[in-house]
Amino acid sequence: MNNILVTGGAGFVGSNLCERLLNDGNKVICLDNFFTGKKENIKKFENNKNFTLIEHDIIDEIDIKNINQIYNLACPASPPHYQFDPIKTTKTSVFGIINMLNLAQKNNAKILQASTSEVYGDPKIHPQTEDYWGNVNPVGIRSCYDEGKRCAESLMTDYNRMYGTKIAIARIFNTYGPKMSINDGRVVSNFIIQALNNEPITVYGSGSQTRSFCYIDDLVDGLIKLMDNNYTEPFNIGNPDEHTILEFANLIIKMTDSKSEIIFKPLPQDDPVKRKPNISKAQKFLCYNPKVTLESGILHTINYFKNLI
Ligand code: NAD
Ligand code: UDP
Repeated sequence: MNNILVTGGAGFVGSNLCERLLNDGNKVICLDNFFTGKKENIKKFENNKNFTLIEHDIIDEIDIKNINQIYNLACPASPPHYQFDPIKTTKTSVFGIINMLNLAQKNNAKILQASTSEVYGDPKIHPQTEDYWGNVNPVGIRSCYDEGKRCAESLMTDYNRMYGTKIAIARIFNTYGPKMSINDGRVVSNFIIQALNNEPITVYGSGSQTRSFCYIDDLVDGLIKLMDNNYTEPFNIGNPDEHTILEFANLIIKMTDSKSEIIFKPLPQDDPVKRKPNISKAQKFLCYNPKVTLESGILHTINYFKNLI
């Protein structure tokens, strides 16, 4: 049994991770400031003796004893949320990881950082491999997120080099599934909710940009595999199943049997044109293989949102 701190544990990925870690017999401390996280996401663990909730903001220092693993997930992930207060977003990534690295060191705990495919920016190589250094606009509207996450990777690696802190870095690609917030603002929840309400589906730009969608259970599996191994360099975790956003809109309309029409809205600044993870490294060294097909993962997600609206 491990004593595990999950920051951002009330969010979409965090609450799914807490559930899996508890089911595997661990003790879990969920730390969250509830900026985008939801109490409902963790309600079912309330009476679990192995679960503790700490309401706290990771930009402020904290002392927690007797933990041997930290998953650092605290950070808004949806563009509208991380752009809402961009300075706070950078602080969350940078001050947050410094606080969590210091905590890891004090406890001699291993820390996994939830990094992102956004470290590759608008990538010039496709699919993206871990050795690509990326193409990030340092002064654009996405840079608070991208540069914050890049700085966090740099800090993780420097703590490891200077102090021997045990680290793992997961570069997470677009992940979806139950417990996404209804007002999350990312494409999967937006399209499903619009389709279920028979409202127009808002495709930004022409819809020719691509994303590769990973179901939450596969992501959680990859994060745990990475935590349980001893690699200090970054790993892509995601599903290489790539689709244009227009194809994705049509799939959602079909799967919800919706009467929604597609409408086109302006493409946000610096929206990456193509994104697809090369996961050979995770396949080879972590035996990581995403299993859930897009159709089956989307079906679970549609059923989840049907119960909410
Ligand atoms: P989310 O917004 O649902 O969850 C983020 C959680 O962090 C929320 O519970 C929020 O309240 C909490 N939080 C935010 N700022 C905080 C702070 N300063 N102090 C304490 N808690 C704070 O997003 P998510 O999709 O669950 O993403 C989780 C992590 O995974 C994030 O770090 C994100 O960057 C990373 N990630 C996610 C994806 C994805 O597709 N879901 C892709 C790449 C990276
Ligand atoms: N997108 C869209 N309509 C929406 C929300 C998003 O067309 O209502 C597009 C967005 O412009 C991007 C892709 O879908 O090209 C994925 O967006 P999301 O915000 O989910 O994640 P990103 O990968 O951009 O961080």
